[in-house]
Amino acid sequence: MNSGRSQAYEALIDVSALDLGTVEKRDGFIRIGANLRFQDVFEHPLCPELLRAGFKQIVNRNVRNMATVAGSIAMKSPCSNVIAALMTLHAEVETADANGRRERVSLESFVNTSSEGLLITAVYIPEEWTGLHCSTRRYSRSQNDISIVLADVALEAADGKITRVSAVAGGVAPRVVRLVSLEAALLGQALPDAEAVGDLVKKDIAAISDFRGSAEFKAYMAGQLIDWCLHMAVDGAECCACGCEHKG
Ligand SMILES: Cc1cc2nc3c(=O)[nH]c(=O)nc-3n(C[C@H](O)[C@H](O)[C@H](O)COP(=O)(O)OP(=O)(O)OC[C@H]3O[C@@H](n4cnc5c(N)ncnc54)[C@H](O)[C@@H]3O)c2cc1C
Repeated sequence: MNSGRSQAYEALIDVSALDLGTVEKRDGFIRIGANLRFQDVFEHPLCPELLRAGFKQIVNRNVRNMATVAGSIAMKSPCSNVIAALMTLHAEVETADANGRRERVSLESFVNTSSEGLLITAVYIPEEWTGLHCSTRRYSRSQNDISIVLADVALEAADGKITRVSAVAGGVAPRVVRLVSLEAALLGQALPDAEAVGDLVKKDIAAISDFRGSAEFKAYMAGQLIDWCLHMAVDGAECCACGCEHKG
């Protein structure tokens, strides 16, 4: 803005003092007030494990102490660890327009449509998705760098077959992508080999080349990371089913 190259604004609104609530259970959902900072959600006992793991991947605590859930969602970054975790958990975004009209849409729909003029007020995570076995992995140039490619998985498995699954890839396309063909292909099946997983992931993502890497590289990495996450989550699910104390 200072350079004069950005769009001209008539007004700037500081939303940081708005009280949009805390983290709480509400009607089968975990509701997260949109103004909360990452670290506050991270430390809350109701924070789902996958989201906590996503926060841990974010460069450092200084950023986690400043960045808000709403700011992260509004930016719609394809590399957002927070969007990836929330989308895997089937989160919904609540917004308010200038007339105070509230609306709730899936996060997937929110990041793929225009949200101009909307205030994000809360995120709702269905509790039915929070107890699943989950895993996340990212590829970045260094521990302290934003992800280049990332993957998140949540699933249930019984007798070696996947009975419920949600999978998401980030950094590969203009937005974080739900891997719907992969999810459909995995249901009721044992885990296929890494090559088959990679082929299914490629179908879903239509990878793009940008300064972070070529489309081929991103598609390959997304397949590898998703395959790794699937194995971690399935191993956890199978292991917990045997009654031991391991928590995938
Ligand atoms: C050095 C650095 C490293 C980072 N690394 C990572 C990383 O590894 N992984 C990752 O996921 N993220 C990373 N981020 C991004 C960071 O996590 C935040 O998501 C991002 O900076 C947004 O910050 P903010 O919440 O202060 O929002 P702001 O910068 O204040 O706002 C961002 C946008 O959101 C809009 N906005 C804010 N609140 C609302 C609201 N209530 N309703 C509607 N729109 C709103 C603003 O208008 C603006 O357009 C990094 C950021 C930095 C600076």
